[in-house]
Amino acid sequence: MGTTTIKTDNDLIKYVKNVGESNFKKCFQCGTCSAVCPLSTEDRPFPRKEMIWAGWGLKEQLASDLDPWLCYYCGECSKNCPRKAEPGELMMSLRRFLISAYDWTGISKLLYKSKYAEYIALLIVAVVVFIEWAVLFGFSPASGASLNQLVSPEKIDYFFDWPMTAFLGVVLTSFIYNMYRKTVLSDKSVKIPLKLYFTEGWSLIFNFFTQYRYAKCDDGKEPFYKKLTDGKYNFWLTHLFLMISYVALFVGIVFFLDWFQKENSFPLLHIVLFDYFASIGLMFGTVYFVIKRLTKKIERSKFSHHTDWMFIILLFLTGFTGIILRAAIVYKLPVPWMFYLYLIHLLILFPMLVIEVPFSKWSHLAYRPMGIYFANLKEKAKNLSKQV
Ligand code: SF4
Ligand code: SF4
Repeated sequence: MGTTTIKTDNDLIKYVKNVGESNFKKCFQCGTCSAVCPLSTEDRPFPRKEMIWAGWGLKEQLASDLDPWLCYYCGECSKNCPRKAEPGELMMSLRRFLISAYDWTGISKLLYKSKYAEYIALLIVAVVVFIEWAVLFGFSPASGASLNQLVSPEKIDYFFDWPMTAFLGVVLTSFIYNMYRKTVLSDKSVKIPLKLYFTEGWSLIFNFFTQYRYAKCDDGKEPFYKKLTDGKYNFWLTHLFLMISYVALFVGIVFFLDWFQKENSFPLLHIVLFDYFASIGLMFGTVYFVIKRLTKKIERSKFSHHTDWMFIILLFLTGFTGIILRAAIVYKLPVPWMFYLYLIHLLILFPMLVIEVPFSKWSHLAYRPMGIYFANLKEKAKNLSKQV
């Protein structure tokens, strides 16, 4: 009789335990969690199998698993688990593990393991920004000069925005390729026809811009409007509002910086989109999530890792200093005020973008839609091969 060898990785078990609050060792595999999960399907059942894989330290299986990206942490599984093993929290911990597994630099792993590593990484980027500012603009704004003369938008573009965007583009693309390699290419049981990559492309765009699976977290039979008025979509809609505001501001500062430094170019579009929509979205969204995390009333906000706090605080401070700076420009405050406000804003914004976007919490914004896309590709390819 043949034997199967199970390769247990004790470091993985320790790591997954350290980056979350799941008690996966308590799981006795009753299957209730997968049965009650509104997003789990017969073909893609979770989180029961992840509980056993984590308990046994099956690193390869976990690193190639896309299902943690399909879970939106509604918490139904945790609420119904008879052993209080917190399967929803395990899926969260696995997302943290996967972020560090896709990152070939090892930085994510360090940030998830130690809050001090995160502080140091953020500080290093802030120091680089400070030095760049000192070299390009100095610290004594000449009286009588305008903000644009003191802080040239071209220099901000050439020395801050574009190098950062290029860095993020290259690093994130390489991590996503790593994800693709581990989850799709390594799976020899499925061969994806080239055409499918294009025909399924809509799911990537659709899920990125709607995060619609959040809405499916509630599987009650009431109509859409009833769930809406009962507040069942509050979390989803607030998350969506925050994400769209963030993306709008990111695109704005990278490609339309001139607008931000002048008070009257394209006034209506700028005022409506950035000064109101995006600012309200950032402030409202971050405060909402801070309150949820502090009150711990819903399952998905019961446990907070240090990276969750750091991300939300930096996002709030970025939005807050950005709004104050923009108000200083619009209401024509003394130029030296704007000059220093600008520096403070960059000292928060850049560490957040350079560290949080590729290496920490923010990266789920890219990995989630990619995970759903890859899972769809595999499922469709399997169905096609059955028909042949
Ligand atoms: S419900 Fe709890 S005990 Fe049962 S399989 Fe899921 S995690 Fe394990
Ligand atoms: S948290 Fe919700 S979506 Fe995630 S596995 Fe549990 S029941 Fe499913």
